[in-house]
This record gives sequence, C-alpha cells and structure tokens, in this order.
Amino acid sequence: MAAERRSEVSRPARPHLPMRPLWLCRACAAPWPCQPARLALLVEYRADRSALLIYLSTLMAEAGTQLSHLNGSAIADDLTERFLAWARAR
Ligand SMILES: [Zn+2]
Repeated sequence: MAAERRSEVSRPARPHLPMRPLWLCRACAAPWPCQPARLALLVEYRADRSALLIYLSTLMAEAGTQLSHLNGSAIADDLTERFLAWARAR
C-alpha cells in the first residue's frame, strides 16, 4: 500500500472532520466542509479533481439525508453550494 502523501500539510492537533449527523466541523464548529477542510481536500485530491467531486457528492448525499431528518426540510441547493461549488474546476 502506498504511503499517504500528507507531508505538505502539517498535521493539525484536531483534524477538520465532519461531526455527523450535524455536519459541523469537529475542530472549528463551522458548517463542514469548513475552509481548512476544503484546503486539505484540494491538496489531497490535487491530481484528481473529478475524484474529489465524486467524494464530495457522496458526502453531500449523506449530509442531505441526515440534515433533512434533523431539520425536516430540504436544503439541497444550500448543500450543493456548500459541498460542490467551491471544488469545481474553473
Ligand atoms: Zn474546521
């Protein structure tokens, strides 16, 4: 198995990962993906933007299901902006 290539990112004390089912960042409590999480994802997937978008789409679907149960309303437009808009290649 190839070693993970994370040498360019200093390992944070608390990684910016989503806290389910609220989808708030465990480290900074911002709606996930927060800015540090987006930067880390862009670095991690810099060689394969379409893989990043597929990964984010999967997470967005999961978040949509969990958040709609919590909120009782559809928030799909908001989630597209939050999960995908920033990651699309220009
Ligand atoms: Zn964060």
